[in-house]
Amino acid sequence: MLLTFEQAKKNIFEVATEVATNNHKPLMEKVALLDGLDRITAEPVISPINVPSFNNSAMDGYALRLSDINQSRLLPLAGVIYAGDDISSLNWPKGSCLRIMTGAPVPNEASAVVMQEETEQTESGIKFLQQIKPASNIRYIGEDAKQGAVIVEKGTRLTIPTLSSLATLGIAELTVYQKLKVAIFSTGNELTEIGSRLANNSAIYDSNRFTLKLLLSKLNCEIIDLGIIVDDPSKIKQTLEIASKQADLVISSGGVSVGDADYTKMALAELGKVNFWKIAIKPGKPFAFGNIGNALFCGLPGNPVSSLVTFYQLVQPLILALSGQNLTEAELSFKVKTATNLKKSIGRLDFQRGVLQISTNGELEVVSTGQQGSHLTQSFNHANCFILLEKDRGNVTKGEWVTVEPFNTLLK
Ligand code: AMP
Ligand code: MG
Repeated sequence: MLLTFEQAKKNIFEVATEVATNNHKPLMEKVALLDGLDRITAEPVISPINVPSFNNSAMDGYALRLSDINQSRLLPLAGVIYAGDDISSLNWPKGSCLRIMTGAPVPNEASAVVMQEETEQTESGIKFLQQIKPASNIRYIGEDAKQGAVIVEKGTRLTIPTLSSLATLGIAELTVYQKLKVAIFSTGNELTEIGSRLANNSAIYDSNRFTLKLLLSKLNCEIIDLGIIVDDPSKIKQTLEIASKQADLVISSGGVSVGDADYTKMALAELGKVNFWKIAIKPGKPFAFGNIGNALFCGLPGNPVSSLVTFYQLVQPLILALSGQNLTEAELSFKVKTATNLKKSIGRLDFQRGVLQISTNGELEVVSTGQQGSHLTQSFNHANCFILLEKDRGNVTKGEWVTVEPFNTLLK
């Protein structure tokens, strides 16, 4: 029996939530704000100050009291306030206005700032040409962030805009979850380390472990690289045991199918627990998930495209959950017309690779990247989205609606 993609994902989530809340909660550490990118907050971030911390001007112009405006709409100039000025001992006579710059403190008595473009300089003072709205062009204290308010919830992945907003609060250090420890290894007698000469004419390069390292770095994990393991059940078992003692999550590639040298699942069953290992998706039907003691295990299929697709679709959310991230936002997906025919056999959910583009008449459309074989890495090369073709769907004809999921930052 094949599991549906939804069942597999649900199972992974349940286990991840259970692990993250009970077995071993991710530990915390303090990092400098500058090192906070892509880390996950372990505590809510509270604003220590009001931002802005004082009323200030949004424009270069003139501060005035509306009660001073009379028929002549003319006020003599009494002084200038620059950004950074201390106005605690400012003397501002009634019936006058003040020249003020953007970001400069606005005196409490001022009821508005009028932008320079709406005034005229005359010999006897500043003439206000237009109707003046009370409070206009004043940026009020705490308008952006209130002292004591929660600015970032716990479990949030920190992005550049979020870190930038924390910098405005003067926050220099953050409490984040420690990086998830992930052990990786590849299985296969045919595998050669990149950078070395291929051992014989049936050897191939171990591209999966290389790709895994990139993906895990991007997800901010600490990587324990256990290298290439030959197709020998006892070696695989030994590696799994070593890995499970050091890591929160163990990821292998290859050896999870039904071939005679596919020992990974067997080794996992002997050492721990296998939750499932066949999913009705394409590519990526063989996918093992389980645990060895406290460490979770994902066995990715050997074919590079299958390995990348299953990592993206199943391992990525698992890692985010284990890293302490609140997974409230689902991946963005929407329907669009395909501008190419898509080959599809009934029975599995396809994650075909596509290019979302704008057609000649200005409409969004998707085209296939071509051949979709799970060994054809070029099918990923120019892709910017997955085309999700439902399990029970057959071939798709040009012009039909399909669901697309644009790649998130992991593949960009
Ligand atoms: P397996 O899942 O071990 O049966 O492997 C399926 C296919 O993926 C075979 O053609 C393998 O040679 C290939 N493969 C397995 N592991 C890797 C790897 N680490 N890098 C690239 N290709 C691999
Ligand atoms: Mg193999």
